[in-house]
Amino acid sequence: MVSIEFLVEREDKIVFILKDASPALVNSIRRAMKSLVPVLAIDYVDFYVNSSFFYDEMIAHRLAMIPIKTEPGRFKMPKECSCGGVGCPNCQISFRLNVEGPRIVYSGDFVSDDPDVHFVYKDIPVLELFSGQQLMIEAVARLGTGKEHSKFQPVSVCYYKIIPRIEIGEKCDLCGECVSICPRKVFSLDGKIKVSNPLDCSLCMECVKICEAKAIKIVETDDYLFVAESTGAMPAKEVLRQALLILKGKAENFRKMLEELNV
Ligand SMILES: [Zn+2]
Repeated sequence: MVSIEFLVEREDKIVFILKDASPALVNSIRRAMKSLVPVLAIDYVDFYVNSSFFYDEMIAHRLAMIPIKTEPGRFKMPKECSCGGVGCPNCQISFRLNVEGPRIVYSGDFVSDDPDVHFVYKDIPVLELFSGQQLMIEAVARLGTGKEHSKFQPVSVCYYKIIPRIEIGEKCDLCGECVSICPRKVFSLDGKIKVSNPLDCSLCMECVKICEAKAIKIVETDDYLFVAESTGAMPAKEVLRQALLILKGKAENFRKMLEELNV
């Protein structure tokens, strides 16, 4: 049976072991986390005044990449909203700014229509305004998925690797070559060769190649080490939870479609 064991459970990062899983399952989870979990991002910007040295497009691009706190269920996807995607308080939110130079404009200078929905980091510099320059804009955020654009990705780092089973056989002559060649410091020599950091193994097989006694055996298992870091839009564990819900929904739909095929 597939099971999960968390090694790190922080707001910004999770590390877990997925036991007895298949490559298809673990990769589906990775892909769902990266490209199917919706988060807010700036999607278009109205420029009322921009006398800075920056083109409107450059400023809009920069704003789009700043992560926004997203509470699951708070907003609807535009195409699923009762407004039909035109834009209403249920599917979009505005971030307003009206500042004059000289000063540096930071992400924290924007005022959101809802104080609970804000840029995750307040100290990201957006641009510098010089004396006499003004920027008056309204940036509109909406939900989207990473499949559409990477600005809607809730995770930055999101990867997995197979956890190997490393076996040291009786033929080992304690030469210690594997300890020194391993770039990940997986082995230690303490009377005998010990596999002290199996989770760090990257399956480079250098230890197997260098071992003259042919004592090291590396076996691939059905266990995976999964690492995910959040952009800050939502806690890393919430991204995983949302991804699993989306996959369950998709699997349920797939099952229904198969059941309809009564041949
Ligand atoms: Zn709407």
